[in-house]
Amino acid sequence: MSSIIQLLPDHVANQIAAGEVVQRPASVVKELLENAVDARATDIKLIIKDAGKSLVQVIDNGLGMSVTDARLCFERHATSKIRQAEDLFSLHTKGFRGEALASIAAIAHVEMKTKQDQEELGTHIIIEGSKFVSQDVAVLPKGTSFAVKNLFFNIPARRNFLKSDVVEYRHIVDEFQRVALAHANIHFTFYHNGSEMFNLPPSNFRQRIVNIFSGKTNEKLVPVQEETEIVAIKGFVSKPEFAKKSRGEQFFFVNDRFIKSGYLHNAIMNAYEGLLKDGAQPSYFLYLNVPPNTIDINIHPTKTEIKFDDEQALYAILRSAVKHSLGQFNVAPVLDFDRDANLDTPYHYKNLEGATPTIQVDGNYNPFSEDVPNKGPKSDYYGNRKPDANSEGYRYEPVKQTASWESLYVGLKHDTDTITENGGFHFESEEATASLFNENDVEKAVNKTYQIHKKYIVNPIKSGMVIVDQQRAHQRVLYEQFLTNMTLHHASSQQLLFPLHLYFSTSEMELIAELQLALVNTGFVFEETNDDSVVISGLPVNIAESEVPKVLEQLLSDLQDGIPESSFSQNDTIAKSMAKSLSIKTGTYLTEKEQENLVNGLFACKEPNVSPFQKPTFITMRVEDLDKKFTI
Ligand code: ADP
Ligand code: MG
Repeated sequence: MSSIIQLLPDHVANQIAAGEVVQRPASVVKELLENAVDARATDIKLIIKDAGKSLVQVIDNGLGMSVTDARLCFERHATSKIRQAEDLFSLHTKGFRGEALASIAAIAHVEMKTKQDQEELGTHIIIEGSKFVSQDVAVLPKGTSFAVKNLFFNIPARRNFLKSDVVEYRHIVDEFQRVALAHANIHFTFYHNGSEMFNLPPSNFRQRIVNIFSGKTNEKLVPVQEETEIVAIKGFVSKPEFAKKSRGEQFFFVNDRFIKSGYLHNAIMNAYEGLLKDGAQPSYFLYLNVPPNTIDINIHPTKTEIKFDDEQALYAILRSAVKHSLGQFNVAPVLDFDRDANLDTPYHYKNLEGATPTIQVDGNYNPFSEDVPNKGPKSDYYGNRKPDANSEGYRYEPVKQTASWESLYVGLKHDTDTITENGGFHFESEEATASLFNENDVEKAVNKTYQIHKKYIVNPIKSGMVIVDQQRAHQRVLYEQFLTNMTLHHASSQQLLFPLHLYFSTSEMELIAELQLALVNTGFVFEETNDDSVVISGLPVNIAESEVPKVLEQLLSDLQDGIPESSFSQNDTIAKSMAKSLSIKTGTYLTEKEQENLVNGLFACKEPNVSPFQKPTFITMRVEDLDKKFTI
């Protein structure tokens, strides 16, 4: 039989390798920035267009390349950084595999200009899909410029796989920040579609962090420093009270290389034990220096995962260093984490005390009444909502609705003392006892609600009972309310006496700018939008001032994977996120009035059966079901 194995031509091999190294425009950004750092540049410019899909360009003032090297650098396994296998364990450069440029040139149009300091003239090369198009001599400044255009022009499948510009841009910002944080002594500038996004002058670590993540970051940072034989640690962690919902600002650098490590992340989380509220994430910027021969970087093509010789020791040292810093800076005692979360009034209506809302609750209205005209399941909730409802049945009346929802928040008491030992089953015993035993009082009981375990609201109905999950129900109510306000553009705002000044990172500001219109439609009033902050002078009526950072943070974290394209799904995402942050939570005590309003509010919704996250909001139990349980 004839042999069938062939060696792949170089351009095919390069394209295959590119699959590993170049996943998206951000991968190109990473490789080019790292090459510029390795070339000892002190000034690096990153220029991108259309989130890197049409152009990624990196211009450095580094060492440049000779004519021969300028040609050679596009060959696979062509590197100036290692010569023998042993060099892998004494690396002082970012790159060493010699495959980035070969891979990039295989799947894009690349134009390179490079000149060494001592040379008069430089080299200008154009290469497209691994094919050299031209090579000229040119008058150039010292350093190298790589322009990578039309990424994946020859692999349509990969090109189609790219995400929206917003998502791809965020990936690029991530890579840029990682390199910029690892090299605070280098001047970085970053332009997107002609606008300057970052301009980071050479500085120390702390200033670099602040320059990237806004001025407010400074006060959040606690320094960490530790030196042992196996590792030197320096950097910063955030004070626990600034912990965030998202894992955005968590950085490990090992020998100036950004790395990901779940194991070391655990060491940090462990150091914060008892200091963070559930699910909160601290920020950290930690620089570890280890002897190069104690790590293996060559275990992953993008070199973001590395293997440590003594991971356990590293874990212990890191944990104790961070713990020590948190303790030393007296962070812990300031916080009272034992405080009952229920005491944090979720709805501060201090400023509105006088303004008792005009609540239009129909006391006689009973959504479960059996004499509802039988128009299918929806009319059970809508058709009989108001005695004066017109003949078309239920009409959505958002203005009144808002007023009645307000009653849920206004005066929400958190008087946990009144809760009895049987898990918060709250009723005025006489009345309840009477209605339990007196058959004639069934009607009375029908309108009564009981909260059990600060989680469910039980409402007897003629056919049995309905059990409502308070958190999910409130999510549904808020969600529909926000959505209506946003689509009808008639949200009302409460004016703030002192405008709120909130700081965000550049990438967060990008998201906020994109969402601004939708947020305005919910009732936010933006007085100013700056590069790193917003000034808010008005809020939706059902958000307390103290809740705004939490709400916006949750929103940004929910939108990390990109803002939906259509305005409908944008509104939907925002409404969901705000409903999630603002809903009364399981564990919150509700007065009878609040319970009643919540139940009424839920059944006035368009889709009362499920929460915005498609979880059931209530269940019903018929008397027969109960009877069955007693017949055993
Ligand atoms: P690696 O970085 O792993 O060596 P690359 O394919 O990224 O592989 O680069 C190949 C070689 O091209 C590098 O080893 C370096 O000698 C040269 N080179 C790449 N970018 C630059 C640059 N910006 N300035 C000077 N030399 C560069
Ligand atoms: Mg490289």
